[in-house]
Amino acid sequence: MESLATIHSVPIGKWNVGGGNAISIQTMMGRGVENEISWRRELEDIAAEGCHLVRVAIPSELALQQFQRLRRDLSCDAIAFIGDVHFQGKLAIDALEVCEKIRINPGNFASHGARSMAIVDKDTLEGERKRIEKMAKKFFSRARECNCSVRIGSNGGSLSNHHRMSSASAELAAIASVLEMVQWAEEVDLKNLVASFKWSDPISTLLINEMAREKFNSLGKNYPFHLGVTEAGNGLEARIKNAIAVGILLSKNIGDTLRLSLTEKSVNEIRFAKKLLDFLNRHRLCLEILKEKSKELLCQLKKFSDEHWIDDLQESQSGSYDDEILGLIGQLLSVENANFLPDITTFPPWKREAVRCLLQIFRLGRFHGEIIACPTCGRTQYNVAETLDHVRRRFSRLKHLKIAVMGCVVNGPGEMSDADYGYIGSANGKVNIYHRGQCVRRGIDEAHAIDALEEMIRQNGDDCVE
Ligand code: SF4
Repeated sequence: MESLATIHSVPIGKWNVGGGNAISIQTMMGRGVENEISWRRELEDIAAEGCHLVRVAIPSELALQQFQRLRRDLSCDAIAFIGDVHFQGKLAIDALEVCEKIRINPGNFASHGARSMAIVDKDTLEGERKRIEKMAKKFFSRARECNCSVRIGSNGGSLSNHHRMSSASAELAAIASVLEMVQWAEEVDLKNLVASFKWSDPISTLLINEMAREKFNSLGKNYPFHLGVTEAGNGLEARIKNAIAVGILLSKNIGDTLRLSLTEKSVNEIRFAKKLLDFLNRHRLCLEILKEKSKELLCQLKKFSDEHWIDDLQESQSGSYDDEILGLIGQLLSVENANFLPDITTFPPWKREAVRCLLQIFRLGRFHGEIIACPTCGRTQYNVAETLDHVRRRFSRLKHLKIAVMGCVVNGPGEMSDADYGYIGSANGKVNIYHRGQCVRRGIDEAHAIDALEEMIRQNGDDCVE
């Protein structure tokens, strides 16, 4: 599958993104650079699987130096490296010399993190905007000198204050904040830019990317788009979320590179991405088609209203269901199968659950609580994948709740700000619990944190099932 030829081509190491080039596949290293042996092993695995671009968390100058040292000894030149830097403009500038591309988030680039939430008056916001502009232009100028590309990647949960407060919706704020950064980059003559708009909800991801592409095109800004759903979680549901958002966008010729976020081994993201691209070479996906079929699907599902699917779900974690999930999506959403409705009463339980996930994603029914989780990276403070499974088993019966399982306090609080409860790694093996955006318990030992979360949910009267 290829990107549109009308889109600007952006070089990233030996790869080119956009401009009619093949859609490139990305992942992010789950290991921190300080774990040298396992980091190298992870890199070998994703390289062997055909990864084109890999993102590396750079949380500090020390991590940057360690990454630089590791890079020097690598024989693998098929992969281009993307540094991921948050809240530290100066560190982002330093990382330009070591990476082929840097990802920045306009919502936290050079901002003061949690403290910036307190900024409300117009003058202070304008002062903040000017300060960020100065730092961003310095960064973009240096990127041009270093021949380093930049992804300006917004995230639904971490939008900058000055846009959030002056825009009518989060979607418009995200588009405005990326366009503002693009403008600053163009003013210092940096053109090697990629934009992204990620939400944890696949339908929002779909809609904002359509809206953003239209806006960018109307302004003549033909920069490539990086696609992905953020905090998709793992297993069955995460695959469905990614396939829906990314699959429908690519079917509409939107998108030039992708990262299918999974709270699993990074190599699984590459495997699933390759399968999805192969699948999309044969099928075109359409959201309207599922909406047409949904009433009949809901009727069929009512026959299994007391079904417990959680135990069966475990099987889907290994990635062995990649093909079956894509096959199901092809049956339900593809243009070629627009008039075909499968008899889902003959499906095994996991496959009926996949249909429930689809309907819930499309807001056509509420079957379980929404549990989101970050895909983990070098900043992760505890075993997110294991915790996610525990949280899902304990709380997914609470259909009305959205619970976020996040690896660190750097990005976690912002990116899960719309969740009812958050479970966030605060230090090695320690967890903070959040309720509707506020940190309500700090530094709980990982071994007791899920119990603490349950207690909190009970105390707040949120543990009742309708
Ligand atoms: S929230 Fe998760 S993926 Fe995001 S920076 Fe923290 S550990 Fe990494």
